[in-house]
Amino acid sequence: MLNDITTNDPLPKVWDENTRIGDMLKGKRGLVVGVANGDSIAFGCAAKLRAFGADIALTYLNEKSKPYVEPLAQQIDAGLLLPLDVSQPGQMQAVFERIKSEWGQLDFVVHSIAFAPRDDLHGRITDCSQSGFLQAMQISVHSFIEMAHFAEPLMNPGGAFITMSYYGADKVINNYNLMGPVKAALESSVRYMAKELGERDIRVFAVSPGPLRTRAASGIGHFDELIDMAVTRSPGRRLVDISEVGRVVAFLVGGAASGMTGDVIYVDAGLHHMG
Ligand code: NAD
Repeated sequence: MLNDITTNDPLPKVWDENTRIGDMLKGKRGLVVGVANGDSIAFGCAAKLRAFGADIALTYLNEKSKPYVEPLAQQIDAGLLLPLDVSQPGQMQAVFERIKSEWGQLDFVVHSIAFAPRDDLHGRITDCSQSGFLQAMQISVHSFIEMAHFAEPLMNPGGAFITMSYYGADKVINNYNLMGPVKAALESSVRYMAKELGERDIRVFAVSPGPLRTRAASGIGHFDELIDMAVTRSPGRRLVDISEVGRVVAFLVGGAASGMTGDVIYVDAGLHHMG
C-alpha cells in the first residue's frame, strides 16, 4: 500500500523547481580532464557545462599539448588550467590541492581519458602483454577511481562524477580489442562507486558516445568502418557530435538528474539498440 510508506528523511534539496534550464549549472564548479584539442569529447563537455553557467577547471597532458589546450581554456573562460598526466605520481594530488586552495569545493568531475599501447590495442586480446593491459587499466580506469578518491572530500551534496565509456564494454566490436575489457571494468567501477558515494549524495555515471572522429579514436584499427557502421545502422542514420555528448553531461551533473546514479547513458543516436 503506497499510503503506508512514510519517511522522516526528506529528499536531498539539490534542485530548485524554479531553475531555468539555461542557468541550471550557475554557481557550480567542476574539473574536466581530457581536452587534447577542439575535437575532444572533453571539450564538447567543458563548453556546454560553461554555457549552462558552470565554472570550469581544465587540465593538459604535458608541455607539448599545452599550446593546443590553452586557447580552448581561454575560449570557455576556464578558471583554472593545470597539468595532469595521470601516470605521473603526485600530479593528480597536486591538481586537487590546487582546486581546494582556489575553490574549496567541487560539484562535478568529468573524466574523458583513455590510453592503450598501440601494439596491444591492435593485436588480439589473447596476445596482449601484461604491461600493456596494466597501463591501459591504470590510465583509463584507475585514474577515474583515483580522481573520485581525491575529489570526494571537496564534493558538494548532489555532485557527480562522469566518465566516458563505449559500447565495446558490453558487446564484441571489431578492432576495439583490449579496450573492451578496459571499458567493462570502467562501467563496473561506476556502479560500485555509485553505491559507495551515494551515501554522501554523490552520483556516478558513465556516458557512452557513439563513434566520433577524435585523436584517441584514430588509434583504433579501421576506425572508419566503425563510423560507417554507425551511420548505416543507427536509427537516424547519423553520427553524434561532441556538443550532443556535452548537453547530456550537463543534464547529468545538474540537479535535474538528482534521481539518477550508477547508469551507463548512451549518446549514440540509438545505435546500441540495433541488433
Ligand atoms: P581525445 O584524444 O580527444 O581525448 C583523449 C584524452 O586522453 C586526451 O586529452 C589525452 O591527453 C588524454 N590522456 C591520455 N593519456 C593520459 C594520461 N596519462 N594522463 C592524462 N590524460 C591522458 O579522444 P576522445 O575520443 O575525446 O576520448 C575521450 C574519451 O572518450 C576516452 O575515454 C574514449 O575512450 C572515450 N570514447 C571515445 C569515443 C570516440 O569514438 N571518440 C567513443 C566512446 C568513448
